[in-house]
Amino acid sequence: MTMDPPEFQTSAATAASAVGETILADDKILTLKRSKKRTQGKKSKKAKKTPSAENEGQLYGILDEPNIDYVQFGVSQRFHTWYGTNVYFENGTRKLGITVEGKKNRIKDVEETDSEPSKVWLDTLFVCEYCFKYTDDEQKLVDHDRVCSYKSRCAPGRIQYKSPEYTIRKVKGSKHVLFCQCLCLFTKLFLDNKSMYFKVENYEFFILYKTGSNKPMGFFSKDLVSFQQNNLACILIFPPYQRRQLGTLLMEFSYKLSRAEGVITGPELPLSPFGLIGYLHLWANVIAYQLEAGELSERAEVTLDEISHCTGFRINDIIMALKYMQCIDSDYKIYLAHIRAWKKKQADKGKLGTNTRGNMMIDDEYLLIDV
Ligand SMILES: [Zn+2]
Repeated sequence: MTMDPPEFQTSAATAASAVGETILADDKILTLKRSKKRTQGKKSKKAKKTPSAENEGQLYGILDEPNIDYVQFGVSQRFHTWYGTNVYFENGTRKLGITVEGKKNRIKDVEETDSEPSKVWLDTLFVCEYCFKYTDDEQKLVDHDRVCSYKSRCAPGRIQYKSPEYTIRKVKGSKHVLFCQCLCLFTKLFLDNKSMYFKVENYEFFILYKTGSNKPMGFFSKDLVSFQQNNLACILIFPPYQRRQLGTLLMEFSYKLSRAEGVITGPELPLSPFGLIGYLHLWANVIAYQLEAGELSERAEVTLDEISHCTGFRINDIIMALKYMQCIDSDYKIYLAHIRAWKKKQADKGKLGTNTRGNMMIDDEYLLIDV
């Protein structure tokens, strides 16, 4: 194998501090963030320092702007990265860290001009679209693509959801360490304050596939040691698969998981402003559906506890959603008529679909959750 990741050189303390940061985003959100970042003026071209005892509070590996220009994702898809990261590189250098046949192999320096260092450390990172192993050599990716075990045999993990359209597999970080680490590295190119966590054994990863394909389209992670039992730590739909509501599909699934575990919970907080928009839309849609056509449709009045029990959402999240819909007053009185009017307005705008599950993307019929 010629596409293994570098030896990670971070301390447990650094990794632990990094885990506390969360970014959540759905398809549209990530696009917005990209354009914002790409149009920002030139800032410092230097990387932030590698974490140390003095700056543990900083996000590990984050750079001010993209330092890898393109990702070649599989043999046929190529796109820009959105954010800079130094975690693909050897500590303190611009050398891609790659282990070749068990030996540390220093890759050539990235070309730099005589006058000033290029802000791009690497023009193209070649990443396997099945297992996320990487190289800076296109031929190595082509060669690897022919033999990648996740392509030719089976994707990792156990199936938790399988509809005719989508499959979600649970991959334990403790069991598939390399796959999960490479996935995290890749994610860092597309989420700005997404923290790198090297202690992947503390996480489960839920990977989304098109049914019948071994190509991951996106994922979310779940912290197994979270005191709050959050059902989602980080989520990303990979660039080629965005604008298909797949972020919503994964968020919905995260609630199916916590429902199966018998807990009322939600995503890790704080949410990014962009992540909050995605969640508000999901919460509002589900609440409105339950009041319009679901379990609460016959009710003349309803309490926050009842909505929480019905939806699996935390009460604070429900309050945020109801405020977003302008359907609750300062005394927490809920206005059902306003909620129904909100739903009709959304439907009229074409923002809500018309399937029999209230526009939910997950169909319970296809759940295969093992908890
Ligand atoms: Zn591969």
